[in-house]
Amino acid sequence: MILPIYAFGQPVLKKVAKEVDYEDEDIKELISNMWDTMYNAEGIGLAAPQIGKSYRIFLVDTLQLDKESDETASGIKEVFINAQMLEEFNEEKEYEEGCLSIPDIRGNVTRHSTVKIKFIDAKGKEREETFSGINARVIQHEYDHIEGKLFTDQLKPLKKRRIARKLEKIKKGEIPLSYRMKFI
Ligand code: ZN
Repeated sequence: MILPIYAFGQPVLKKVAKEVDYEDEDIKELISNMWDTMYNAEGIGLAAPQIGKSYRIFLVDTLQLDKESDETASGIKEVFINAQMLEEFNEEKEYEEGCLSIPDIRGNVTRHSTVKIKFIDAKGKEREETFSGINARVIQHEYDHIEGKLFTDQLKPLKKRRIARKLEKIKKGEIPLSYRMKFI
């Protein structure tokens, strides 16, 4: 089932999300709905706060990018439940990001190129893994969501000023939509 995506300005996007019971049937259904919602909006990542639930769950599918370029040879399709970032390391890189909750805004964010993260996967298995490249990039973006942070918070001051008016429009829902959203 496709759910509406909560837009910039929704308080849930600013909350630190809570851990969940991954064996709960409602959680399993929620994850399935999150996949539907993410693919419908043509995203490569989605976090539970973006569908209005303050839970520590996010999805990443960078396999979709493999089809577009041969640069990322090893995409992942993974659900991260109760994730805990253990380490962010290696050189910092700037890369242009976007977000399904903030349509039509893109901006450069500096992040580490490698992460070590602990999480429960779709099979209920606890894993500790290291990811790099685009996978690390998307994981950090989605992890920020469950920590109540948005990529726009990390943009340079000049860029922030440039997008301020557009953000206000998104908040009020005064934007054209290509998927269903929920505004305050
Ligand atoms: Zn996002």
